Amino acid sequence: MLGVGGGIARSMLTTLRQFFRPAVTVQYPEEKLPLKPRSRAALGFDEDICIKCAQCARACPLGLVVMRVSRGPDGERVLDQYDIDLTYCLNCGLCVEDCPTGAIHWTPRYELAAYRREDLIFTRERWRQETLARRKAAAVNRPLLIPPPWGPVTGRSRPLHPLPDMAVV
Ligand code: SF4
Ligand code: SF4
Repeated sequence: MLGVGGGIARSMLTTLRQFFRPAVTVQYPEEKLPLKPRSRAALGFDEDICIKCAQCARACPLGLVVMRVSRGPDGERVLDQYDIDLTYCLNCGLCVEDCPTGAIHWTPRYELAAYRREDLIFTRERWRQETLARRKAAAVNRPLLIPPPWGPVTGRSRPLHPLPDMAVV
């Protein structure tokens, strides 16, 4: 039993110990800690490597990916619209997983706070500006363009698992 005096001494000792330790508090937003390059913060979209296959739109469980594609003069696919309302995004990553080229990918950007809901709707133009800005700042978390372990991507980005043997009764 140390009593009241012992308790005070112990707490003062703790204070003294902390006093000589380096400060760990980050003065956000003036100071920011860099996130890991592959952290899953917010989505990014790079139109330059998008093949307009709409896998991402099919994969999104909430149907947030709104895209419109038309044909160009040479029959090539032209992206007219690519909107995602990030207000509702679950950050589930299903669109990222299914994208065969990595056009939709995770970025280390995490400051998405906005005063108006409309500001969280990312349109094609906004994606483009954002991608350019990140490229300029050399902070782009470029998607993985190395071939996946199950071979070249041929329209399907996930391996097809064989069905389990069916029991014959
Ligand atoms: S992360 Fe999930 S919820 Fe968000 S756009 Fe992609 S698939 Fe949809
Ligand atoms: S899945 Fe990828 S390549 Fe296909 S439309 Fe979506 S972002 Fe573009």
